[in-house]
Amino acid sequence: MQTIDLHAHTTASDGSLTPTQLMVLSAEEGLTAIAVTDHDTIDGLSEATGAAAALNIELVPGIELGLDYPHGRFHLLGLLIDPQCEVLAGRLVRLKENRRQRNARMLAKMQELGLPITLEDVQRASGGGQLGRPHIALAMVGKGIVSSVAEAFALYLADGKPAHVPKDKIPPQEGIDLIHAAGGLAIMAHPNSLKLNHHDLSSDLQELRAIGLDGIECYYSQHSPARTAELLQIAAAVGLLVSGGSDFHGDPKPDIRIGQVDDGRPAPNALLYALKEAKAVVRAERKR
Ligand code: AMP
Ligand code: ZN
Ligand code: FE
Ligand code: FE
Repeated sequence: MQTIDLHAHTTASDGSLTPTQLMVLSAEEGLTAIAVTDHDTIDGLSEATGAAAALNIELVPGIELGLDYPHGRFHLLGLLIDPQCEVLAGRLVRLKENRRQRNARMLAKMQELGLPITLEDVQRASGGGQLGRPHIALAMVGKGIVSSVAEAFALYLADGKPAHVPKDKIPPQEGIDLIHAAGGLAIMAHPNSLKLNHHDLSSDLQELRAIGLDGIECYYSQHSPARTAELLQIAAAVGLLVSGGSDFHGDPKPDIRIGQVDDGRPAPNALLYALKEAKAVVRAERKR
């Protein structure tokens, strides 16, 4: 049985497996294609590409951008992107610098609160990739300041809590344009996180499609088959492409298994063919 997974994280962001380990696991699980979609970084793609080639598995180059949006969390997947794109790379450098400054400010706030967490503690809690709140939370658990990552967020790190500092977030139009500049398809990840009802999600998607959104992640590890069916209907009604992925992270999200969406079933293989086809059509149209 051939399977694909178009949403997964590595140690380049907050996953626990290195790009190579993720490719090995994907091959072991019988995947034919896997997208690496790290948060705000493409740093894992070159290692993943090499490992995938050696294992004879297809690496779909991707990214997941956190967008600025008035409700819930809007994560935008860029799939089939060109990792060499300088426009994208330049914006990611700025995001990285913002993150670095933000981490320093959050740690300074912790010092003020009498919580002695250092950058070294946070680095030790990470897999060597980009640092963020999950790693600060792990460092706090490691020091015995809190008993769990959830508690660290609830007491200190969640939006509005005492050690929280907001992150630079990209507006939707800019995010979509960036993905397009890199030749990729712009896909709304895990649409449930926008926390919109059916009607409002449909109307937001219509507006987003008008500014270039290409698709929506209908198949997802947290979706029931009924929810998947509902989202497929919305995608068809609005005229959006369909994607599917698990959002695999490894240890940080132990319930999510690679290649599993929709109550443990895999996403249909045909999704990737359709996405590639659409990308080719868009390319041809832009050349005209
Ligand atoms: P950051 O990019 O540094 O703002 O961290 C965002 C990450 O923190 C998300 O990808 C989530 O995995 C994690 N996160 C956000 N809120 C919570 C929470 N309440 N409990 C546990 N993890 C969270
Ligand atoms: Zn993540
Ligand atoms: Fe996400
Ligand atoms: Fe993700």
